[in-house]
Amino acid sequence: MSYRWGSTEENAWVAALAVELKRRGYPVVFDQDQPQGDNVDVPGMVSRLAECRYVLCVIDPGYVERLGHEPGSSTKDGWVFDEVNTASAFSNAGRLALIGLLRDGDQLPQGFSFMGPNQRGNSVDVRGSNRLAAFLNDVLPELPGEHDTATVAAARAALADSHAAYLAGDPERAFAEAARVKALLPDAPDGYAQTIRLALRTGMGAGDAVEAAEFLAERGAGSTELHAAAALLYHGARVLDRAARHARLAIDRSDSDPERGVAHTILGDVLDEHDSLDAALGHARVAIHLRGCFEEQTLTKLGYYLRRLGRPDEALEAFAAALEDAPDSPNLLTNAAAAAFEAGDIDRFRTHAIRLHEVAPGSPGANVIQDLFVGGQFERHPLVPLTREIEVAGVAACASCQTSIRLAAGELVCAGCGAPRPVGVRQCPVCDHDGVITPGLLGGVSWACPVCRERTLKYKAVEA
Ligand SMILES: [Zn+2]
Ligand SMILES: [Zn+2]
Repeated sequence: MSYRWGSTEENAWVAALAVELKRRGYPVVFDQDQPQGDNVDVPGMVSRLAECRYVLCVIDPGYVERLGHEPGSSTKDGWVFDEVNTASAFSNAGRLALIGLLRDGDQLPQGFSFMGPNQRGNSVDVRGSNRLAAFLNDVLPELPGEHDTATVAAARAALADSHAAYLAGDPERAFAEAARVKALLPDAPDGYAQTIRLALRTGMGAGDAVEAAEFLAERGAGSTELHAAAALLYHGARVLDRAARHARLAIDRSDSDPERGVAHTILGDVLDEHDSLDAALGHARVAIHLRGCFEEQTLTKLGYYLRRLGRPDEALEAFAAALEDAPDSPNLLTNAAAAAFEAGDIDRFRTHAIRLHEVAPGSPGANVIQDLFVGGQFERHPLVPLTREIEVAGVAACASCQTSIRLAAGELVCAGCGAPRPVGVRQCPVCDHDGVITPGLLGGVSWACPVCRERTLKYKAVEA
């Protein structure tokens, strides 16, 4: 909980919120004794924030004023400023969710905006006790089971120990302490969440983490961060149906651009495996737009989808952009040379092939390209290795993200991922969503795009 010191009444409001959260069964980091007059203990603050799933910022005019100030103008101002900026950095990295609770006044500080219909935001108006209760019931519902103060305190300590052990380079103890949190609070997400985080950061304990992700998914208790994490874990373990399901949930629920970027990349990859390349291409484009991590990998995927779609010129541009970031990547050079070959662009083929031969002589990619160099015929012949042959009856196209999904007669579009779906299949084989877009049902109507979620998807039948 992040707040500023105020009047007795204001401090009591914050304290009451902490009590209520604890009553609901959550371990709360709430420090009424934050240092005053001393320098801010930055490592201590970072460490405390790193343990949190949510940072609740109690916003009032005093809080807004302190965030407007430069750090160091006074100790107290600097404290709130540093805390919120550190929390924002964690939030941008997808580690926690920053939530603004407008308690008083009517202004939000920089970096905060209201959630609304069709609007991603991170703040809610809780002026009035009913609104606060409604928010808490929605986001932080009362956890089932008994949670007496002593148990919650023990779990809180175990979570802190787990984090400290991780920082001290003792992952085994970190995992053991996370397991203790799970044992103490089997219905709370915290121990499971910590297990997943440790697995993502250490590369160990994937089995435990997948189990934890499963538990959270079943309980519906996963925060958006956890859906994104579960998508990454399952994707890494090549459990693609589950990876796609969690990626889709992260896209729906997350308000962090990097997190959604990763989810779009993963969903695109799974759609590619299912030969749904039009939708895969859309997700890769949105991922790049959101500047998800793996910039290079996402551009490589985009180029590869374009190659498979028989569009080598566009593929070549995608690989060229990726090569700016990673000029000596053998994988990229192989793909770029292949795309140039398919596009019949002999100059660029030569450039990429020669560079590939320099950086990775004898590699499988270099050998393939070498064979093309020697025996290839330089005419345009796009590669279309796996795309299913369909008789296109119509196209569902989005005006916002430019995704364009070709459909055979009678096919529907999955509302969760954009994969074409035969009539009568209830659940999407890619992302498990049961929602469906029925093209042409209401001529001219705009649907929510299954890729970017904007209400700008229209269906157009192909003239016979
Ligand atoms: Zn789907
Ligand atoms: Zn779209």
